[in-house]
Amino acid sequence: MGLPILILGYSGSGKSASMRNFGADEVALVNVNGKALPFRTQFTQTLCSDQYPDIDRFLRSVTAKIIVIDDCQYLMANEFMRRAQEKGFDKFTEIGQSFWTLVRSVLSLPQDVTVYFLSHIDTDENGRQKIKTIGKLLDEKITVEGMFTIVLKTSVQDGHYYFATQTDGRDTCKSPMGLFPAMYIDNDLKAVDIAIRDYYGMMSQIICADCGRPVTAVRDKSAGEIAEGTARTYGIPLCWTCACKRVKQRKEAANAGTP
Ligand SMILES: [Zn+2]
Repeated sequence: MGLPILILGYSGSGKSASMRNFGADEVALVNVNGKALPFRTQFTQTLCSDQYPDIDRFLRSVTAKIIVIDDCQYLMANEFMRRAQEKGFDKFTEIGQSFWTLVRSVLSLPQDVTVYFLSHIDTDENGRQKIKTIGKLLDEKITVEGMFTIVLKTSVQDGHYYFATQTDGRDTCKSPMGLFPAMYIDNDLKAVDIAIRDYYGMMSQIICADCGRPVTAVRDKSAGEIAEGTARTYGIPLCWTCACKRVKQRKEAANAGTP
């Protein structure tokens, strides 16, 4: 079962930019409105389309375990514009249903796949911030946020870009308790994905490059953190034991060099 996650934010508030730390092969990107990304990395698996059948095929064919659907509210907005001449209210139901079906389809993806729905935000008549849809007639049919367990929102404070992980009472943010370390975290989607995989035990096993055994959690460090840390230091992921061995070897080599 794949996991859908909703990320809300105003235009230019750091939604797309939050993908900046992913490698080119790590993410499969659905670029709904063909928007240029605000960083240099070009993701190797990219689809520019606002058509549900194309997106459905893409989701099922990509090899990346992390999928991002950027500016997903345009799926609804574009369909609405295409059907602007249609009379009657059925189209609202159908537009809602199309989006609902897409989110539901994530559940049939493999269990180690995360799908991030990036969307613009809107303020409703009660002053509450929520996903931007095509308006009240759709919102009466479906509550989009109700389909997600994790809803994050961008927050810009003193020129710093964050994700809000819990509601401030005036928005629809939510996440399971203990998943994220704070109410506001860095707007780093890669770090978010690592935290989510850790929490749900979705880590596809990382193999130690020295001994060939899986990297496992030690004390307060998760497997993901150890693999990330050793990859940064040594260029390869290592288990705790092998990382300690290397530290010891370094020390011995340094001591041997100074009589
Ligand atoms: Zn090892």
